[in-house]
Amino acid sequence: MEVDGGAVRRNLELVRSHVGAGARVVPIVKCDGYGLGAGLVVEALAPARPFAYGVATVDEGRALRALGVRVPVMVLCPAPPGDLPRMARARLVPTISDLESLGVLANAALHAKGRAPLLFQLEIDTGMGRSGFVLSGAAQWWPEVRRAVASPGLRLLGVFTHLHSADEADLGSARRQIERFDDFVASVEGIPSDALLHVANSAAALRLDLGAANAVRPGIFLYGGSVGHGAPTPETVAALRARVVMVREAVPGATVGYGATYRARGRERWATVAIGYGDGLPRELGNRGWALLRGRRSPIVGRISMDTTVVRVAAEVAVGDPATFLGGDGGGEIALGEVAELADTVAHQVLTGLSARLPRIPMEQCR
Ligand SMILES: *Cc1c(COP(=O)(O)O)cnc(C)c1O
Repeated sequence: MEVDGGAVRRNLELVRSHVGAGARVVPIVKCDGYGLGAGLVVEALAPARPFAYGVATVDEGRALRALGVRVPVMVLCPAPPGDLPRMARARLVPTISDLESLGVLANAALHAKGRAPLLFQLEIDTGMGRSGFVLSGAAQWWPEVRRAVASPGLRLLGVFTHLHSADEADLGSARRQIERFDDFVASVEGIPSDALLHVANSAAALRLDLGAANAVRPGIFLYGGSVGHGAPTPETVAALRARVVMVREAVPGATVGYGATYRARGRERWATVAIGYGDGLPRELGNRGWALLRGRRSPIVGRISMDTTVVRVAAEVAVGDPATFLGGDGGGEIALGEVAELADTVAHQVLTGLSARLPRIPMEQCR
């Protein structure tokens, strides 16, 4: 797999120019930089000087620290309360969604006395339903949260919520979630005036008016995923290629692959390519997906195996040719969104599904 770090950085700048100077851009690099390699992504983004990074787990946060990241690292998923002291030691920024976790964090802050205050964030549930303080109970939990916010050992870095439908055609529910968030922020006292307020993933950052928010959390757009109607198109970041290892002439009626689900209609030329679902090429692309060979679109025939995929090709294709399953070749391009749609999933899953067997090669080493 080839990864174009320059394109990641330019996609970040696209988000920046879209949201304007009023919002900080916090790149989300969870799941090893959406499968592209967190090290490669962080190195590519460094010249853009992000204010902070976002990850999902403590280990991902520690990996960023090991890469030399010095800016705040937000852990966006709720962690088990037992992990909070470890997070505090690694100076990661936890997300707090309930009073029990807040108590554990406050306790960790007591033990970190003499050091800089521990940064943390509050998540507010405005409809996603999986995490965050529940808005209807704010009268009960806010007074306690407010005391914690004011305590000397802790510092509130930000307050955020997550939208469930920012990539859909109908943006009504997303707008209502933003309204709920803004109402909450306006109705409580004690949020520091310098706190980050953020609601937007890639789709929201590029398609919605962000209300009170002063930061955004783009992920998939940075890695080349389109986010729906009305948004700019990102630059392609990843190219997925493998070599043709065998070419054969199939006679009419010959079958290919497990289950013999494809049968040659006439004399056909089949190229066996050394990539399969074990590399993360979605198995759903069997008999549906495409590869580019010598710039030409060629259909995947039969089911995808763990290690090989067969493509129906034109006469000039030979052993050793690269086959492109994602990204550009010659004048052609297979877009991430197209692959996701054919595989019945989202671009996020296509990228994060690419397995460890594939080397991640910076694009500049492929020229
Ligand atoms: C993953 C994630 C994002 C980024 O979402 P994209 O759709 O990839 O832009 C933003 N915020 C939170 C809380 C997330 O978990």
